[in-house]
Amino acid sequence: MSQVQRITVLGATGSIGLSTLDVIARHPERYQVFALTGYSRLDELLALCLRHRPAYAVVPDARSASRLRDGLAAAGCDCEVLEGEAGLCQVACASEVDAVMAAIVGAAGLRPTLAAVRAGKKVLLANKEALVMSGALFMQAVRDSGAVLLPIDSEHNAIFQCLPGDYSRGLAQVGVRRILLTASGGPFRETSAGALRDVTPEQACAHPNWSMGRKISVDSASMMNKGLELIEACWLFDAAPSIVEVVVHPQSVIHSLVDYVDGSVLAQLGNPDMRTPIANALAWPQRIDSGVAPLDLFAIARLDFQAPDEQRFPCLRLARAAAEAGNSAPAVLNAANEVAVEAFLQGRIRFPEIASMIEQVLEQEPVVALASLEAVFAADQRAREHAQAWLRRHGR
Ligand code: NDP
Ligand code: MG
Repeated sequence: MSQVQRITVLGATGSIGLSTLDVIARHPERYQVFALTGYSRLDELLALCLRHRPAYAVVPDARSASRLRDGLAAAGCDCEVLEGEAGLCQVACASEVDAVMAAIVGAAGLRPTLAAVRAGKKVLLANKEALVMSGALFMQAVRDSGAVLLPIDSEHNAIFQCLPGDYSRGLAQVGVRRILLTASGGPFRETSAGALRDVTPEQACAHPNWSMGRKISVDSASMMNKGLELIEACWLFDAAPSIVEVVVHPQSVIHSLVDYVDGSVLAQLGNPDMRTPIANALAWPQRIDSGVAPLDLFAIARLDFQAPDEQRFPCLRLARAAAEAGNSAPAVLNAANEVAVEAFLQGRIRFPEIASMIEQVLEQEPVVALASLEAVFAADQRAREHAQAWLRRHGR
């Protein structure tokens, strides 16, 4: 690895992408931006290219590429513009790249993230949907290529920090009894089941503690985010779903905990700011400044804990069942959820129908083994078709 690490940021225009660039910009002696990718926010991508001077930028299609090229040329910036999924995969596995931040949202991130894994890169994984969809194949690819996979999701980064360095020997071997995954409870933690029928996308996206993209904000509101994270934790740490417990902790100061057989419980605490896990993974095993203010325990004063309510938040129950069923079930859950969240954001379904739609798609889809990436995408596609059919019957 060269002295200065060259980084590709997949999903640079998003919430995680921008936080990553904020941390990178604090350490020009350590990090250089190799490539930035965006999708719809082209003006933002242009501004980021002018600020960070990457060798490559990637956009979805020829039209966006020509717009970005014009903007770059007008500013005298000689950044090469690539297009589509092929462009994303190219910048994810290029030989010049040391580390890849995987921060595209949803299934769209799977191929480029896997390309980085297969190329043996240091992969900073924010795109949990990629791992949820293809867990077995993904983790096999990590083992085969020797890629270094570091979790960015704050809970998983916390767990990673609370585990011993040799945890890959097996959690039982290193004395782990349970993983305690904390959840803020989201904006509707105290909303009654009846009132959940009338909540709006704006209310769902107004998270009390974290500022995030719209899809993950809705996932947090439905607690599907915690369900996806449960599956993510099982793959990352080779844990059985039965040892992963969800603990609602409204302050979002403890980012997760590991319970050991001797009764010790290790936790990682910090202000709810994604720059902490990003800096942790970027510099691992060293530590660097992230720009996050020191934690003020006197201002926080108290830490509360509650059991999750699976009656009001059935997505958690559906995700746990999918984790236990394994095989194609998590990919089906994820695809149905992506369609449901989009429909909710467009005002086509009510909030509680997110869970109803996912449950019905899961009931219709047989659980099958996923032996290849093609099989993963086929399961994803079938689930999306079922979800669309449900929408035609029940949506507005
Ligand atoms: P955002 O919606 O803010 O950003 C998503 C990024 O993906 C943007 O750069 C967007 O481009 C790009 N993108 C969207 N669709 C496509 C597509 N079809 N092809 C290529 N690129 C696409 O999301 P977040 O940053 O909040 O989340 C990113 C990932 O990180 C998600 O998987 C999320 O679950 C995970 N995560 C996020 C956390 C957070 O605090 N935000 C915490 C933990 C995990 P554009 O904006 O230009 O359209
Ligand atoms: Mg999280």
